[in-house]
Amino acid sequence: MIILKYILKNNNPHFVEGLAKKARKTTIQYFGKTISLYAPLYLSNYCENQCIYCGFQTKTKLKRKKLSIREMNKEMEIISKSGIRSILLLTGESQKMAPVGYILEAVNIAKNYFSSISLEVYPLEVEEYQKQFQNGVDGVTIYQETYSREQYKKLHLSGNKINYDFRYKTPERLAKSGIRMIGMGVLLGLSTISEDVYELFRHLEQMEKKYPGIEYSLSFPRLIPPINGNFEYIAVSDLTLVKLICMARILFPRVGITLSTREKPHLRDHAILLGVTKISAASNTSVGGYAGVNEQNPQFEVQDNRSVREIISLIKQKGYDPVFTDWRRIENSSG
Ligand code: SF4
Repeated sequence: MIILKYILKNNNPHFVEGLAKKARKTTIQYFGKTISLYAPLYLSNYCENQCIYCGFQTKTKLKRKKLSIREMNKEMEIISKSGIRSILLLTGESQKMAPVGYILEAVNIAKNYFSSISLEVYPLEVEEYQKQFQNGVDGVTIYQETYSREQYKKLHLSGNKINYDFRYKTPERLAKSGIRMIGMGVLLGLSTISEDVYELFRHLEQMEKKYPGIEYSLSFPRLIPPINGNFEYIAVSDLTLVKLICMARILFPRVGITLSTREKPHLRDHAILLGVTKISAASNTSVGGYAGVNEQNPQFEVQDNRSVREIISLIKQKGYDPVFTDWRRIENSSG
């Protein structure tokens, strides 16, 4: 913790440059010069939780929507035509409006368009994750949001999400279910950065020790407060984010690091040279947003609006190879 605090405080250019060089060298050693691409697809924005920092929370007066089968096909067709082969399916946390069966149905459709399917949905039980895995899901991302119990309680006022321990144990349930990739992270800006990141690293370390065969990834989204929200958050600078990415890479050389279009182009362009291994491209965070029909309020405003083609050309300009598929499931391997 002391070292983490020291690194976060030390903005000496020589020190930061040394950190960046080490992170870059480690990334190339373990991943080569490759960047994987994915796109998020929001299936539903119904949510039963009251997270005071989120525009989707249950008390927000918002046009709610979930995609029909026909709309899922439409959205997925558009995304796959852009060249993307790895999809992240997201829902707000409403088991009533987006039950396990609905997610299974979405995965079934996604299999027609994509070679890798991941989920970012409400935490499930082991047996439910097993069903998702057997149906074709490769990875699941779950954010603890903040590891501070005290702050967690203040930020999550109602809904199933108030159960800190159930969320904390989600990576473990995922590991038991057979899921191949587990994404973990905190939402930067909710609580003290050094404490949250320290606990995240500890959690990941425990998981790696107990379940070594799994592919882990980390992500450090910065909070974008909802429009009209009056939530007081901790601002996280670009430099702090870059240092976190570098530290994660040095401490966990084999772990993937994901960066979404929440971040501006200049930061994403720089971060892929340091430790990031997977980025989203041409994202839309509204339900039905890719087709532009019945467009809903987005969960957050995308900061990088470049097309997949532009992102590919940027990656190539930097001397890296864009990767669309680094994993393909063999049909009868799901049992
Ligand atoms: S952060 Fe997730 S669970 Fe919380 S209100 Fe937003 S969508 Fe719902």
